[in-house]
Amino acid sequence: MSELVLTLRQAAQLGSRARRDNVLGTMEYIPGSVVRGALAAAWLARNGVSKPGTPEREEFLTLFEGGVRYGALLRDGTEFMSLAVAGHKYDPQETCEVIDYDRARGEKPPPYCPQCGSPIEQRKGLTGDRKPLNRRTSVAIGPGGTAKRGELFTRETLNKGATFRGTVTASDDTLLKILGDLGPVRVGGRRTTHGLADVAITPAAPPPLPERRPDGTIIVRLRSPGIFVDDHGRPADRPSESELKQALGDVGARVAKAWTRWEQVGGWHAASGLPKPQELTVAAGSTYILSTERVVGDSALSALSERGLGLRRHEGFSDLAPAPALRPGAADRRRAADNSKKVRMRAAPLTRMLVGDARVANTLRTLTEAHAEGDPAAAGRLREEAKKQGDTDVRDAMEFFLALPLADAVHVAEYLAEVLGR
Ligand SMILES: [Zn+2]
Repeated sequence: MSELVLTLRQAAQLGSRARRDNVLGTMEYIPGSVVRGALAAAWLARNGVSKPGTPEREEFLTLFEGGVRYGALLRDGTEFMSLAVAGHKYDPQETCEVIDYDRARGEKPPPYCPQCGSPIEQRKGLTGDRKPLNRRTSVAIGPGGTAKRGELFTRETLNKGATFRGTVTASDDTLLKILGDLGPVRVGGRRTTHGLADVAITPAAPPPLPERRPDGTIIVRLRSPGIFVDDHGRPADRPSESELKQALGDVGARVAKAWTRWEQVGGWHAASGLPKPQELTVAAGSTYILSTERVVGDSALSALSERGLGLRRHEGFSDLAPAPALRPGAADRRRAADNSKKVRMRAAPLTRMLVGDARVANTLRTLTEAHAEGDPAAAGRLREEAKKQGDTDVRDAMEFFLALPLADAVHVAEYLAEVLGR
């Protein structure tokens, strides 16, 4: 699996549905179909339209009609909130025990926050570090090209410099090399002055596995809109049992619970640049609990997260999302503080390694930090250093530290840095 990073060199406007209030809006993410269309246009600009049966035509078809799956690109720091999450409608206070409830994990939101009284509502749409859009208002132009008296409209655009990321999957790495060399591309409307963007494709870690619940069911959340049909081809708001069985390596499964919303999505045809008919989709953030007839292994789950679900997956529909980022409440902060204290106490014998030899102390500090940042080479060297101490408490504390998840290992690295700093 690889990551596609698109960086705007110019402001861009994505999606052209005029709204009733005379605002020409822009989407704040780049659908996979737009990425595919932009790269296809760049390929055509370079190679021209090729004749059927030629190697060029074969390459075009492999790149844009099935050999590559273009995931949706989201702006750095943003995700579509899981529709299973309900949270504070108004800004929470310091004292609020819980701010967001994840119903997919079985949390039961009250109608109002017991501490501040804010209604607790379903969260939806793009969340995280959203940046303000450019807004420019001008006089509306009528069909004859003349200004329409007294009518204004506002155009929204994404700022230049914005960076968007998503996955791109190909049957063959040489395809990714071809795509990575096609840039710069143009995305969105008003292409003479807008939407020029650089494209980079780099290897990436596989996507996170769908979460397992303690009762054995599986949570699947969508990062981009999804298109589903039932066994008769009619629009559906969830994957069918036959698709799930296929996607899970022949394990029977059904949707036990769902949080979804209907949406309409348009698009452009990659090669012709013509608009595509509107498609009925479920919104990004749609969330399902899958109940399976037997345990699904990690490899099948990993295959599912690379595959996605539903129709038109190679255009970025139904990418799977990581677990949602919930806003921490007072209860979470207390738990985090307790946990940090516990972890520090168990790792305390490591501070003996800091006494005396400054070289050992510095090596230890560098290596613990490297380990806490995920450097796989650091663990072996830390074990060696701990052995040299000949102190079983130190060795046990080191094994404890090395077995910690990265989020907890950070507490130990910070602790040692604090002790050294004194
Ligand atoms: Zn509250």
